[in-house]
Amino acid sequence: MFLIQSVIRNHKVKIQSVLKSHTVKMTIINQIAKYHKVSHVIFDMDGLLLETEQIYEKIIRDLAASYGKPYPWEVRMRILGTTERRTCEIAVAELGLPCTVDEFQKQFSQSCLDNLGNCNLMNGAERIVRHFYNNNVPFCLATSSSQESVVVKTANYPALFKLFHHKVCGSTDPDVKQGKPAPDIFLVACQRFPGNIKPEDCLVFEDAPNGCRAAKLAGMQVVMVPDSHVTEKQKEDATVVLKNLLHFKPEEFGLPPFADINEE
Ligand SMILES: [Mg+2]
Repeated sequence: MFLIQSVIRNHKVKIQSVLKSHTVKMTIINQIAKYHKVSHVIFDMDGLLLETEQIYEKIIRDLAASYGKPYPWEVRMRILGTTERRTCEIAVAELGLPCTVDEFQKQFSQSCLDNLGNCNLMNGAERIVRHFYNNNVPFCLATSSSQESVVVKTANYPALFKLFHHKVCGSTDPDVKQGKPAPDIFLVACQRFPGNIKPEDCLVFEDAPNGCRAAKLAGMQVVMVPDSHVTEKQKEDATVVLKNLLHFKPEEFGLPPFADINEE
């Protein structure tokens, strides 16, 4: 009798173990099936890896105030993710500033160089970049900023930013004809990876609605880590929306999972 009970108990444990293992496998498979598998990653920079958007916001707000004008959130959302030239065009037109775009851009560029050198990394930025590097997932940068501006903003993090395979700087790259929300920058970033990499092989990380639209138009999936002011409608181009980069689950896109535990 004791022997029979023991056999039944062992059998139950084995069945539970198999079921548990099967559940884990099915969960992973379902997660992978959730999104199209990718092999390459493209990062936006401002507001995604670097905490620069608040600095930009202050720069434009202060410049607008010097002309006696406010800087409403609706205009900021239109500016977010655009090239420096487009940022200045929108600011002058939408804020009704009594100056030319060239005059505004001169002040804007100088203020950027003066203020952007001491920006912080966004939450989880270093972890995710090093994770892809350590796991041989090719990744690059696709920023609307100029090359000069990228040098200033990344000056405090040389070891991290040298890990990128290449950097596309939308404001100064001759191959980027139109800034975000046009798809040009992401298509150029994709083409500069070695091999015949297709847009659908690339996963974009973005914070701005303009960037998400650009990625979608490029035929890429996009992970959005939005500013708290971004509306639900402005998130509609995102494949997935995260609170911060620490919440990303690489295995959902067929990429190697993090070895550590996701944090809040
Ligand atoms: Mg951005």
